[in-house]
Amino acid sequence: MIDLISDTVTLPSAAMLGSILNAPLGDAGRLDGRGRGEDPTTNALEDLAAELMGKEAALFFPTGTLANTCAVLTHCPAGSRVLVEERQHILVSEKICFRADGFRMEAATYRLQEDGSLDAEAIRQILQTQPIALVCLENTHNYSGGKCILPDSMKAVQALCRERGIPVHLDGARIFNAAEALGLAPKEIAACCDSVMFCVSKGLGAPIGSLLCGTAAWIEKARAWRRLLGGTMRQSGVAAACGIYALQHNIPGLAEDRRHAQQLSGLLRDLKRIRVDPAPHSNILLLDLSAAGIYGKRFCAMLQERGVRGSVVSPEEVRLVFHAGITAEDVPAAAKAVREIDGLCAAGLSQ
Ligand SMILES: *Cc1c(COP(=O)(O)O)cnc(C)c1O
Repeated sequence: MIDLISDTVTLPSAAMLGSILNAPLGDAGRLDGRGRGEDPTTNALEDLAAELMGKEAALFFPTGTLANTCAVLTHCPAGSRVLVEERQHILVSEKICFRADGFRMEAATYRLQEDGSLDAEAIRQILQTQPIALVCLENTHNYSGGKCILPDSMKAVQALCRERGIPVHLDGARIFNAAEALGLAPKEIAACCDSVMFCVSKGLGAPIGSLLCGTAAWIEKARAWRRLLGGTMRQSGVAAACGIYALQHNIPGLAEDRRHAQQLSGLLRDLKRIRVDPAPHSNILLLDLSAAGIYGKRFCAMLQERGVRGSVVSPEEVRLVFHAGITAEDVPAAAKAVREIDGLCAAGLSQ
């Protein structure tokens, strides 16, 4: 199976698993004299994450969802109005911050531009007319097909927020993919926000874990939220060792994931009905089925019969995600499968 369902399917390598055996462990839920947990490996990962993001401190979480939730709650109280992109993961997938039976944040929304930039003028108008307590960005932006937000437009939004004393949180689940694609250091992107979350469990290939980074004082408040929400772990160095290995070894491989997405796009330029993102920014390729007479669910079933797994992001959109488990030979094979289905759609697929 050519598994393009997500970059979360990456499996830890033997070398990565081997790094666990020599990792010093302790109880990360017990604090030492300096307010850090007692697991040295987790602390080492947090220090590495803070350094890579150019922030004072970092905190290790079991999931990105929990890290984002703690970030939002650390920035503003439950029930606040939070400005998010209308298809942002935290809003449409995670939901807990915004649900009436959750943390009751009110969502105000903006829309990412087609080219991946932020419309600073539209955001200025929202900030002027609504009591926004926090602005959330996502880079790369998952459901738009892995678009990279251009740093200049992030800076423009940051300036608007600074004038008004509004914090900016970045969901940087795939910030390393963004940095690679934009030719920047991750800290140059992270400099555009007050806090940033990133995942080691996606394209970086670790089995578990996400990091939240910010000022030291802010991270201490986030640590309290992590405890309240049950995210405090014990010998989390078992997972953190893999995270350290991922950051030390797996960042260069992200360039290949992007090239594979772009190669597949190139191979599918002349399809009859299915529209393929002609210029994917990163490791995600979006297929638009709206002119193909097929829904994403059926398309994915047909794709799977042909040995390829993709995922539905909206009724007429399918996402193919590239990662370290995908080889150069998989790309033309995946193209063949998509092309076959496109041919069937053009021949008037019976529904
Ligand atoms: C995967 C992801 C997260 C976090 O997901 P978890 O599965 O909870 O680790 C957050 N934001 C985006 C954009 C993601 O793709």
